Amino acid sequence: MSTSSPPAASAFRCIPPFWCTEEQMERHGIHLLALSHVYLVPQLKQRCTKGLAEQLTIENAVDVLQLARLCDAPDLYLKSMKFLSSNFKKVEETEGWKFLQDHDPFLELEILQFMDEAELRKKRTRRHRKELNLYLQLSEAMDCLEHICTEGCTSVGPHNKESSHKRQPCSKFETCQGLQLLICHFATCKKRANGSCLRCKRMWQLLRLHASICDQPEDCRVPLCRQFKVKVQHRGDDELWKSLVRKVVSARAMSSLSLPKRKREEEPRMDLSHHRVINFMLPA
Ligand SMILES: [Zn+2]
Ligand SMILES: [Zn+2]
Ligand SMILES: [Zn+2]
Repeated sequence: MSTSSPPAASAFRCIPPFWCTEEQMERHGIHLLALSHVYLVPQLKQRCTKGLAEQLTIENAVDVLQLARLCDAPDLYLKSMKFLSSNFKKVEETEGWKFLQDHDPFLELEILQFMDEAELRKKRTRRHRKELNLYLQLSEAMDCLEHICTEGCTSVGPHNKESSHKRQPCSKFETCQGLQLLICHFATCKKRANGSCLRCKRMWQLLRLHASICDQPEDCRVPLCRQFKVKVQHRGDDELWKSLVRKVVSARAMSSLSLPKRKREEEPRMDLSHHRVINFMLPA
């Protein structure tokens, strides 16, 4: 079989790809791909590539991968590489793999490298997802903080609002409730002043983060917002903090795109109206 045999080549080229039945493709796909590559029949080659990708099995994965590489079929190469790497434990047991180890160490190395990189990619994606989750949580905490300090929630409200007003839990109550507990702690903690309380430090960071993303120049109701802003004007922020702020801002933009803003009062989950509402005013 070679390109230097014109009669065979032209005869093969005359076979339209749709002449192959599914059954023939299943039985002879590997040979047809080799022939269509050698005799330059792109339509048939394309069909074989697609057909073989759908017929990948533990037994034929190594052969198909080798052929895809020989026949310059990148789609099939990638698909069989992915198939092979996600079924590697079983493929490793096949005759095809043992043959490959003995006869094509370069391809073996290529496969092992691909699997290594795939594992790294997975780890990176997991890490990225974890980080993104953290920024989304912070962004939600920022929404809740603003809402508590302007509208008030079940147990904490702004200092200039009626404290006996009974409220329903809001739509982000899980976060809101945690934040209200933290605020209550922050307002009364004795260890806050000497900086030894971790919970107070956390609240402090949240207030600082709010000030960093707050775009209300004058009438913001969140405690310490103005003080933090003034401080930043004089001293600036470090790069690490700026990068955190950027990430929270983009997570916030992302969540506002994916979740249409609903009125918080629309989704009451449980009645906590018997709770006392405290005012969020920082002790001096
Ligand atoms: Zn709330
Ligand atoms: Zn504390
Ligand atoms: Zn503010």
